Amino acid sequence: MRFNEVLKEIKSYEAGKPIELVVREYGIDEKDIVKLASNENPYGAPPKAIEAVKNSASKLYLYPDDSMYELKEALGKRFGVGMENIIIGSGSDQILEFCARAVLNEKEKVLMSKITFAMYEIYARQMGAKIVRSSCYRHDLDEFYELYKEHSPALIHICTPNNPTGDAIDREYLYSFLERVKEPLVVVDGAYMEYGSYKDAKKAIDAAELIQKFENVIYLGTFSKAYGLGGARVGYGIASKEIIKELYKLRPPFNVTTLSLAAAKEALKDKKFVKDSVAKNFKQMDRFVNFALSNSIKHIDSYTNFITYLFDEPLNSTDIAERLLKKGVIVRDLASYGLNAIRITIGTKEQNDIFFKRFEEILNGY
Ligand SMILES: *Cc1c(COP(=O)(O)O)cnc(C)c1O
Repeated sequence: MRFNEVLKEIKSYEAGKPIELVVREYGIDEKDIVKLASNENPYGAPPKAIEAVKNSASKLYLYPDDSMYELKEALGKRFGVGMENIIIGSGSDQILEFCARAVLNEKEKVLMSKITFAMYEIYARQMGAKIVRSSCYRHDLDEFYELYKEHSPALIHICTPNNPTGDAIDREYLYSFLERVKEPLVVVDGAYMEYGSYKDAKKAIDAAELIQKFENVIYLGTFSKAYGLGGARVGYGIASKEIIKELYKLRPPFNVTTLSLAAAKEALKDKKFVKDSVAKNFKQMDRFVNFALSNSIKHIDSYTNFITYLFDEPLNSTDIAERLLKKGVIVRDLASYGLNAIRITIGTKEQNDIFFKRFEEILNGY
C-alpha cells in the first residue's frame, strides 16, 4: 500500500488513559480508580444537560439539525457575535483541523510555542507543513514576532491558558502582538478560558472584541472542560464571517450529533454550574500548590483545571506516573513533551485526597 508520505512523520495522539484500561490491565476495582489525566470537569456533567440528552434520545433516527441553529444562536448571544461568526465542531479539535486544512500545505509553515497542545503539530503534519517552535515553554510573543518575520508562517497557534503547562498570557500582551501580525491565520485557543479569566481578569479574552479588532484571528472554545461535556465532543470557533465561510467548506455534514447539540445548549445556560466548578477548582488547586511547596517540588502557576509538577533527579516523571497508575491514580506524564514533569487534573476533594496519599507513598519510597 502507498500511504501518504506525511504519515511517516506523525505519532498518533496519546490520550489520557481511560478508567476501563486500568481496570483491565491492573485489575483495580473501578471505584478505586481516580482519573486526573484529561482535564475533564470532576464535578460531572450539568444535570440539565444530562436531562436534555435523555429527552433527545427518541430523535436518534433523524439526522441532527445541520444548521445547528439553536446552539449557534445561544453562543451568539453569549459572546455578543452573529451566527455567521460561529462554526461548531466535534470538539474544538475538529475546528483546529479545519484551520490547518484551510491554510497549510507542504510549502507553508506553522508557528507555535515550544510546549503546547499536541494536536497543533499533528494537524500541521497531516498537511505536510513545516513546524516552527519558540524556544521557551511560555508564550514569548516577542520571540514569536521574530520567528514570524523570519518564517512567514501561514498559521500561528496561541494557547492561553496553555495546555500542558497551565500558564496564561495577558490580554494586552496578546493584543500588542496581534497588532503587528495581520497576515497569517492566528488561532487563539481558549479551551481553559473559563478558568483563566476567573483567576485573573487580565488574562480574560473576549471573543467578540478579539475578532472585531483582528480580522485574521479565530477564537476557539470547548464544552469539554469547564462545561463538563468531554464525552459530547462539542467545541466552537468564533471569527470573521470570511474565515467562517472558508472553514465551512471543510466541514463534513452533520458533524455534531443531536445528543451533543442538546447537551451543549443546556450546559451553556447553566452558568452557576460552570462558576461553581471553577471556584471549587481553585480552592482545590491551593492544596496542590501547598503540597508542592512543602515537598520541594517545583510547579507552574496554573490558570486552568490542572497543575504541572516539575521534577528534579532522582525523581522521574515516567516512573512516578507508572507507580501512580499501579495504585489506581491516572495522571499525565509529560516526558513526551521533553519535560521531567507530570500534569495532574485538579479533582474533587475526595479524588485529591487519594492522589496526595498515593503520591506521598511514592515520594517516601524514593
Ligand atoms: C482539551 C483541549 C482542546 C479541545 O478539546 P475538544 O474536546 O476537542 O473540544 C483544545 N485545545 C486545548 C488546549 C485543550 O486542552
